[in-house]
Amino acid sequence: MAEKKETISMIAVLINLVLSAAKIAVGILSRSASVIAEGIHSGMDIITSVISFFGIKLAKKPVDKKHPYGHYKSEVIAGFLITIVLFLTSLWIIYGGITDFFTVKEIQVTYLTLGVMAASAVINELMARIKIHYGKNYESMALIADGQHSRIDVFVSAGVFAGLFLVRYWAHIDSLIAIAIGVYILIRSFFLGRETTDSLLDVTAGEEFEEKVRKLVEKEGIRLSGIRTQKLGPKVFAELKVELDPKLKVDQASKITKKLQQKLTGSLPELQYTVIQISTHDIKEEYYKPPIGEGFTWRGRMGGKALGPRGQCVCAECGKAAPHKRGVPCTSMKCPECGSRMKRENNS
Ligand SMILES: [Zn+2]
Ligand SMILES: [Zn+2]
Repeated sequence: MAEKKETISMIAVLINLVLSAAKIAVGILSRSASVIAEGIHSGMDIITSVISFFGIKLAKKPVDKKHPYGHYKSEVIAGFLITIVLFLTSLWIIYGGITDFFTVKEIQVTYLTLGVMAASAVINELMARIKIHYGKNYESMALIADGQHSRIDVFVSAGVFAGLFLVRYWAHIDSLIAIAIGVYILIRSFFLGRETTDSLLDVTAGEEFEEKVRKLVEKEGIRLSGIRTQKLGPKVFAELKVELDPKLKVDQASKITKKLQQKLTGSLPELQYTVIQISTHDIKEEYYKPPIGEGFTWRGRMGGKALGPRGQCVCAECGKAAPHKRGVPCTSMKCPECGSRMKRENNS
């Protein structure tokens, strides 16, 4: 499945390559600074995607003598490189936009210009959906975040598209939109820089934040047996381990954690990605709240997909094994031999 993740990244790169070239070409033909800026923006996205594509590859390589901590560091260096490239490009686009603003020129909007920009918006929306869909399936935060980025790009393309209709009334709107795209890339470069620094330092969200989470969990009457947080720029990821009454059905347990998750994201706006592991029920609920738009939940299995469908329950007393039924926690099963409580194999 890792291959599929990379295939999606590669397809996204190729599509952006075509979009970028098409936008720069029609932008030059119609002398539109905003269309050219949008083409450069897509070009920047290619660099980001390529680096994250190689990042995936590097992360998969095992630890060796030269890289005792794995290949994590190369991703961080790549992150800093993209930050610098994004920063310089944004300054260049903003500078170009300002110069353009004071130049008298006539923008020639053709059906081709409009068609390319409309296609750009539609294709970005499709890519956003595909990336988020597979990101959820393969539990890849990188892919989900990338999909979220594509969704923002839909608005950028749509903005340029709308601007092309307005240049008839006020030609300067074109350079203003180009400047706005430059500012958008500038902001992204700052966020990326902060995220890279945070991931390099591997910082948690802090004792104060974790204490707030503990209080909220307590208020819901849920037992918290573990918490892990990570700060990435303005975002916070949290992983909670909770224990519920083992007699509860999976759906009931899920309802309780869903309510908890809503309380958490409601009171802690910086919390973007929450994983709640219900150790008594062998399931985990994941929740992602994007900066724009609605969040979504999905259910994973504890220990990831590595356990496979052959996971089984074993008796703690006599060692008798029984197949694990999905959705039925091992802890609620009685041993067929001696009647004592069963446990999940390799995972208790
Ligand atoms: Zn973009
Ligand atoms: Zn037994």
